Amino acid sequence: MKNSIPVTRPLLPDFEEYVAELREVWENQWLTNYGPKHQQLEKSLKEYMGVDNVSLFSNGHLALQIALRALELKGEIITTPFTYASTTHAIVECGCTPIFCDIDPVTLTLDYKKVEELITDKTCAILAVHVYGTVCEDKKLRQIADKHGLKLIYDAAHTFGVKVNGKGIGTLGDISMFSFHATKVFNTVEGGCLTYSDPSLKAKIEAICSFGFEKGNDSAAYVGTNAKMTEVAAAMGICNLRHIDEALNKRGKIFECYNSRLNKINGLQLICQQEDVVTNYSYYPVIFDQEILGISRDEIALALNQENIFPRKYFTPLTSDFSCYKNRFSHGSTPVADSVAENVLVLPLYADMTIEDCNKICDIICEAIQK
Ligand SMILES: *Cc1c(COP(=O)(O)O)cnc(C)c1O
Repeated sequence: MKNSIPVTRPLLPDFEEYVAELREVWENQWLTNYGPKHQQLEKSLKEYMGVDNVSLFSNGHLALQIALRALELKGEIITTPFTYASTTHAIVECGCTPIFCDIDPVTLTLDYKKVEELITDKTCAILAVHVYGTVCEDKKLRQIADKHGLKLIYDAAHTFGVKVNGKGIGTLGDISMFSFHATKVFNTVEGGCLTYSDPSLKAKIEAICSFGFEKGNDSAAYVGTNAKMTEVAAAMGICNLRHIDEALNKRGKIFECYNSRLNKINGLQLICQQEDVVTNYSYYPVIFDQEILGISRDEIALALNQENIFPRKYFTPLTSDFSCYKNRFSHGSTPVADSVAENVLVLPLYADMTIEDCNKICDIICEAIQK
């Protein structure tokens, strides 16, 4: 829609740049199954993300499923309901039970203080989400995981390019999953990756990704699936990676513009700024306190919609409230997540968004609040 402002726009290279990359794919006559573009992107990502091991996939969701399968998890997984559908679906699809834990009111990530009380003799792992790009309390979660012999997995779909204490965020946890979906900071149209500390996982992860076949073996060693990244997708990743730093810079400018306009308004909670973290400015969520403001999140969303601006209510409803899960798994007590889901709105943010559009959005919000 012309003149409308969506919540995000995809990062796209110059068409000619992509065509040049595709020309090589045509010349190679190699379209999928770990071809040269796949290998090139994997190598570049290893460097860019500052990780020792990375495997690429056709999307982030299958990558997460494969992570849980490679770790042979069975039983209960403690997780957050304040996330995209994928996190919870991956747990259930692997035959595990999601145990919903509340989130911290400031970071909106899994509240480590509430994890231990949920651990039983069936607990096998913690699956936490670096939601909106905010980093989980890794040290605390690691301590709990080690104490109880649990795996620690991160849904890092929102955090491509984030650094913690100078290290790539993909170095945290036993396995981290990143999404390269079109709407994410970095995309391969559809795509994703796993990063992990144990190099011996590579062969297993990639076998499960390719119908369970290990290299050079005609008999499947694992119950596998098909989640391979194609050469066409990898070519897109190679192009986008050349421009990612510039895109993150541009996002940062919009992010700062929002901060400067909104940070003094009583009744708005903005995304938490973390020390020792280099962020990727992936989302700009705002939590609206209806009691202070006298206006609801939904009314503010409506005011923006009337001006052709389309923020999103990520993440409403909580995954624990999905109709497919509501009567199946115990919801648990998650008062913080319940309240955030009711009051949060993710404002538009993308690299090529203009400062004028950002100011227009802030004007509309301020006006709606003052009414
Ligand atoms: C996007 C996203 C996923 C899924 O990634 P896909 O690449 O779209 O499959 C998983 N978890 C979270 C939190 C996401 O935002």
